[in-house]
Amino acid sequence: MARSSTDQENAPLLSDHGSEEDYSPTARSTFGERLNSVAQEPLTPLTKILLVLGLVLLLTSSVFIGLFSGAQHRLNGGGGHTHTETITITTTEKVPASSVPVSLTTTTTIVTTTAPPLPVPTTVPEEKPCLEAHCIVLSASILSSLDTTQDPCENFYDFTNGGWLKAHPLPADKSSFGNFEALAQENRQIIKEILESTSSISPVDDQILTKLRDFYGSCLDEDKLNDIGAAPLLHLAKTVQSLYNGTNPSISNDEPQDKANVKGLTAAVAFLHSRGIPALFSFDIEGDVGVDPNHMVLWFNQPDLGLPSKEYFEEEAMRQIYADTLERLLISLIEEEDLQQQRQRKQPPALINNDDAAVWPPWPWPPWGGDDEGKPINRTLEAHDLAEGVVAFERKLAQASLDLDVLQQDPFATYNPVPVSNITDTVTQIHFPTYFSTFTPRNYPDRIIVTYPQYAVSLADILDETPSKVIEAYLVTRAALLLSPFLGMDTDAWQAQRSLLEALTGIKKGAVGDRGEYCIGRTEDALGFAAGRYFVNQTFGGDSREKGTKVITDIVDSFKASLSHIDWMDKESAEAAAQKADAIRVKVGFPISPNTLDPRSILNYYSLVKTNQEDFFGNILSSSISDTYKKWQQLGKPRDLNSWEMFPSTVNAYFNPPSNEIVFPAGILRPPFFSQDWPAYLSYGSFGHVAAHELTHAFDSAGRLYNQEGKLEKWWTNFTSEGFKTKQDCIVKQYSAYSIDDGKGGKVHVNGNLCASSCLPALSMILTDRFVRTSGENIGDTGLIQAFRAWKAQYNASEANGNEYLLPGLNYTREQLFFISFARIWAREMKPAAAVQRIRTDPHSPNRFRVDGTVSNMPEFASAFKCSKHAKLNPPNEDRCIFWS
Ligand SMILES: [Zn+2]
Repeated sequence: MARSSTDQENAPLLSDHGSEEDYSPTARSTFGERLNSVAQEPLTPLTKILLVLGLVLLLTSSVFIGLFSGAQHRLNGGGGHTHTETITITTTEKVPASSVPVSLTTTTTIVTTTAPPLPVPTTVPEEKPCLEAHCIVLSASILSSLDTTQDPCENFYDFTNGGWLKAHPLPADKSSFGNFEALAQENRQIIKEILESTSSISPVDDQILTKLRDFYGSCLDEDKLNDIGAAPLLHLAKTVQSLYNGTNPSISNDEPQDKANVKGLTAAVAFLHSRGIPALFSFDIEGDVGVDPNHMVLWFNQPDLGLPSKEYFEEEAMRQIYADTLERLLISLIEEEDLQQQRQRKQPPALINNDDAAVWPPWPWPPWGGDDEGKPINRTLEAHDLAEGVVAFERKLAQASLDLDVLQQDPFATYNPVPVSNITDTVTQIHFPTYFSTFTPRNYPDRIIVTYPQYAVSLADILDETPSKVIEAYLVTRAALLLSPFLGMDTDAWQAQRSLLEALTGIKKGAVGDRGEYCIGRTEDALGFAAGRYFVNQTFGGDSREKGTKVITDIVDSFKASLSHIDWMDKESAEAAAQKADAIRVKVGFPISPNTLDPRSILNYYSLVKTNQEDFFGNILSSSISDTYKKWQQLGKPRDLNSWEMFPSTVNAYFNPPSNEIVFPAGILRPPFFSQDWPAYLSYGSFGHVAAHELTHAFDSAGRLYNQEGKLEKWWTNFTSEGFKTKQDCIVKQYSAYSIDDGKGGKVHVNGNLCASSCLPALSMILTDRFVRTSGENIGDTGLIQAFRAWKAQYNASEANGNEYLLPGLNYTREQLFFISFARIWAREMKPAAAVQRIRTDPHSPNRFRVDGTVSNMPEFASAFKCSKHAKLNPPNEDRCIFWS
């Protein structure tokens, strides 16, 4: 094939408009000028010949320009097999004088040597890319994330993200890092700059900023935290003990938990729960999805445990690591108490802190007696035994808990409304009226929704058979494990919890990240709606909200349009689905409850959070108490329709079935997800996928069981439900075939059993039936087709408005870039231990499969990249799981 002029032809993609002549030496300008002149005079035969010749020349050069870079790609790929392909190129030239578009089509057959087949750039060469600085920067960021040695039709995730992954090796202090985390880091940096500036905005804002800065500053001062040591944790542990043992310290600690200590256990658990520390059981306030989803009622749940999921309690090695951690935490409390007693002897009693006075002098710690100076070895042994006892106790709670599959995917099974007496009569070790009064709800609940009734029965039995001192140690270690991260890093307690975290996630021993970033994260957790006000002010200007909302509403429209064509859905169900889609509330950017735009509303919302620059530990507790109080205040009231479950700076989005709403914080409406300045094909590929994913949740395995009012109802016909189940089986089968390395030479299937060289029998039993758990999320990802259709549907209008401009140096079609933009957001590195933990606890599949699994279900992807029939990501249609045909 002719290659003589191609070096010049490739250049203009990166040149500016001024050097246009260099680009197309004969065809473009000369042809235009000639036409301009000939249009004003009668055509001579010679002119006609020249005109035809000019057209042919234009056409030929267009074809070669198109082919050139493709040939470059193939040549770079090295040796391989030969194949023949036919390419049809259509060029449209607008003739300036007559304004008549001239369309020319030609077909040419070429023979190339290629391995593996890589995408053919089909960008129409005449179209000028945007050469403004922001376009060049955007283009460079996309190019640098690619790995063009990969075949997109075989490994689209690697093709799109190989460059990014190479440039972003996993930091030692992190168990996973990807584009979500990178953006979250950027968002925190923005908040950090705001907090570190000293600017004053308004008197009310200054009060909010002082609160934020005090919180942040208290976390940042590591020397101070190390000076304080474990004292705040010991103080809290002693309070738990004092409440637990109550006024009756004579209870023998070797006796099982019995009725005699109902008061103590109730007080201690209420104290922990009010500070956000999970123990024994948990209460949530959510809508009554069986009756009125907007009426907020009490839900009784199993608690979070010290290990991330029940599988870990069946692994001996992990149980050992956990027991060691708890033992170290107990010993660190003993040592802290020794230290305090030594200091005490040197100080007059008047200097004793007043807060301590309430519980001072305390019951003997440790509870197993012995004088403090005499038996350090025995105390260590006792701590060892207690830690083992706590792990055995928690293991029983884990075994009594409902599997996450059911908890996350079966809303009917987990909706069990009962009179409150049902729980109070079952778990008699807790005096619930006293417990409830701690949280000062406006109404005493008479009805309660239990997610898993059997758990309450088992809990009562387990409490009955457990020695009192083990329960006491359980309560103390629950607090110690959850709160020791907020102590100085030099403390033994901090280091104990850290070693457990390292074992669970695979982060490098001793590798600690940037303290400032960590502290902004904690400040966000505690005061996120306050930080969000300044974050939004800084980042969410212009038309961001309107343009982001348009992407979402376009996708809702395209979803509704697709309903009538879906083969597994009958007319009746399709109409109901359209009504549900219409009823979905869309929230974008930031909440108005509390009102991000009104500093008084924010200040009022956080009025209970007391911050002190000297007391990080106390600040954390204060914010937890405020959150818990606010939660309980909703009980018995109508849902606040303007409230949000996420902060404005969060890089995430959610669908909440009972409130039938999809919510997108300003934190995710930023590159690489979205920009109001981007061409639409990029925004619809990345943010559009996020929006379509959340929308599709309203119709996934669990979401489809809530009607348009958020009420649990089987609103689909049997035909449609059966059809959906067939599709769901398809996706379960597809994702079950995927597996990841567990870092120990074995494989973990995405929805399946953990089977290394030896498959633990207990484990496979527990994990059976795990297959459906990720199906909801995988179905959510199938929504990508709706984003694609939504982008196509708005294309003409968007193109006319200049919103679909090309980017320089990117030899990909808009369709291809739509998919690249989608896959790019899922780039992520992860430590094997963290990946295993995610498979056990996270309903989302690993990112690689979220990308490759999703595009392999879309024929539109294969045709955009011209994938061969044999390509991995281009299976025959009968093997694809197509939900939204
Ligand atoms: Zn999801």
